[in-house]
Amino acid sequence: MWPHRRARRIDDADWAAVLDRLPILDPLEEDERARLRDLAVRFMAGKSIEPVLGQTLGAVDVAVIAVQACLPILALGLDAYRSWRTVVVYPAGFVSRGHEVDDAGVEHRWEEERSGESWLGGPVVLSLEDVEASGCGDGYNVVIHEMAHKLDMLDGDANGRPPLHRGMDAAVWARDFGAAFEDLNRRIEAGETPPIDDYAAEEPGEFFAVASECFFETPGALAAAYPAVYFHLRGFYRQDSLARLERFRRGRSTQEGGHPPRT
Ligand SMILES: [Zn+2]
Repeated sequence: MWPHRRARRIDDADWAAVLDRLPILDPLEEDERARLRDLAVRFMAGKSIEPVLGQTLGAVDVAVIAVQACLPILALGLDAYRSWRTVVVYPAGFVSRGHEVDDAGVEHRWEEERSGESWLGGPVVLSLEDVEASGCGDGYNVVIHEMAHKLDMLDGDANGRPPLHRGMDAAVWARDFGAAFEDLNRRIEAGETPPIDDYAAEEPGEFFAVASECFFETPGALAAAYPAVYFHLRGFYRQDSLARLERFRRGRSTQEGGHPPRT
């Protein structure tokens, strides 16, 4: 049982189970899958994945967490997660408590149920129940959400803009993400159905994390609603999740004889 041993590999049976649990990996090319598997093994060797409240984690649970954590950094490398080393895993949603003294000297305390959390300079916290609901291709992914916060925090607070690669324009990023964030808030206030999870409207940091979930889970919906955001995330993650998904779907319809499905 985890974490009494550190995995040095994901064996073939466990890898098959991981692929089975994560339909979002279906569109990946063979070589991308091989790189992802290798990256996940190195992630498991370098990080401490710690179940709490007396639960135990099976090898597949651990691999499912590691593989989803590594999908966003498939083209960036493990170095992007250099600033932290622990993943705390609760069996289900957990209550987060905090307090803060504001500039006026007033103390605020809060209690909130959460499915995940990323601490600046500290651990990532995940609910296993929500990990199990992630990776299905419906837009919800608590692991990718928290990892996006970790990437965002590489240059300080999670403000919705991670450190960008050479050649990426921070002003254009801020303009386009800002416009999408405003649009989402406007649509919600107008009573429209939001094109992405409305949690993204909370603050720019959450918008980036939720958009990242969509980028890997439902790239078509994200690109349709906010094409500029999709474009920037493609540049940041150095992956084209939509092209990959469309290639996969074309290949599948060819295999099935090239006819569109009957309705
Ligand atoms: Zn968040």
